[in-house]
Amino acid sequence: MLSTVLGRVARKKRAMTSDAAARDRNVKGMRIAEPILHVDMDAFYATVETIKDPSLRGKPVIVGGQGTRGVVTSASYEAREFGVRSAMPIVTARRLCPHGEFISNDPASYLEYSKKIRRVFTSFTPLVEPLSLDEAFLDVSGSVRIFGEPVDMGRRIKSGIEELGLKCTVGVAPNKFLAKLASTRAKPDGLLVVPAAGVEAFLHPLPVDALWGVGEITAEALKRLGLRMVGDIASISRRTLERAVGDALGAHLHALAHGRDDRAVVPDEPAKSVGSEETFSYDLDDAGRILREILRLSDRTAGRLRSHGLSARTITLKVRFSNFKTITRSRTLPEEIDTAAEIYSVTRDLYERLDPDRPRIRLLGVSVSGLEAGPPKRQLDLLGRGDRRCWDEAARAVDDIRSRFGDESVAPASLFTPGDS
Ligand SMILES: [Mg+2]
Repeated sequence: MLSTVLGRVARKKRAMTSDAAARDRNVKGMRIAEPILHVDMDAFYATVETIKDPSLRGKPVIVGGQGTRGVVTSASYEAREFGVRSAMPIVTARRLCPHGEFISNDPASYLEYSKKIRRVFTSFTPLVEPLSLDEAFLDVSGSVRIFGEPVDMGRRIKSGIEELGLKCTVGVAPNKFLAKLASTRAKPDGLLVVPAAGVEAFLHPLPVDALWGVGEITAEALKRLGLRMVGDIASISRRTLERAVGDALGAHLHALAHGRDDRAVVPDEPAKSVGSEETFSYDLDDAGRILREILRLSDRTAGRLRSHGLSARTITLKVRFSNFKTITRSRTLPEEIDTAAEIYSVTRDLYERLDPDRPRIRLLGVSVSGLEAGPPKRQLDLLGRGDRRCWDEAARAVDDIRSRFGDESVAPASLFTPGDS
């Protein structure tokens, strides 16, 4: 039922995309030359942490996994002065910034703020395409009559975000590629407009790796041809470029170097899955330990599912082996579920069907999809209903305790094994 609703919403949004395109050509008979905004939060997770704990304000805050294999997910600008960057191993960050405030990821809070941000965006346009929790493209061509020029909307979005205690950078441009490039150049706390008439002046002095799709290898290949700046690429023919780097990439880079990008802003649909995964500080081999981790992840996923007021029919186990090969195994049930015991009974079975000669396990993940709004709609005459009701009640009691005392305060009894600390 929920999926039908989502389908309908999606179709409606697509219809709005073309309406907006029509308006774009038609507002007072004039085309809006820079209708695309790219809005990106500055140091999002780190800033959310300073909202939760104001004593962190002004300090080098480093958010990420705290184990030996942990990775930095966000660093405050104070921490960046020490050279700390996102995606850097946490051990490197500790070396660069030993007096930093190191904080574990708190996905629930980031999701909560992501929703607040989204409300700011959608108050200006329904055409919002999120790229991640803290970043989105907006097509405001249909909103100009109500809110004024796109740059004015950019300013109002910035102050709406500031009211939440966050900061962001906004790029305003004729298309997505240029809008994202503009916000990247204007960080932090900036607003940059690339006017349609000034695209080449903005783009051509940039290094070639500013172009979307140019990594180190392509940049090297282009450099060997004497192409260092975007303007160099724009100055050669498309055919020459295609011969140099291949047809697909050549055509792509040729268009970008001339500031052309015709991708539409495509509004997203609500989340389609809920889950939890964990990379271990050493590779796991012992079946008892692996099953305890699967139980822990099943429990966490069930808690998240219920906290969103959802139930689910499809359960997926993800396994990454020590050789980095990753597999997923899924099963769809005839009816929705929402408890740890039910999720675990499926994930355990999926695990036990894996090849016994598998390598050691580096990462485990448990997720659920096929989401439905509300608790499971079970038939009363199902066998075992009495047992299930006990589980349901236990599960809700656990949620209640967690909501008051935090995520780690309750766990299934078998997680506490003697000698396993
Ligand atoms: Mg960001």
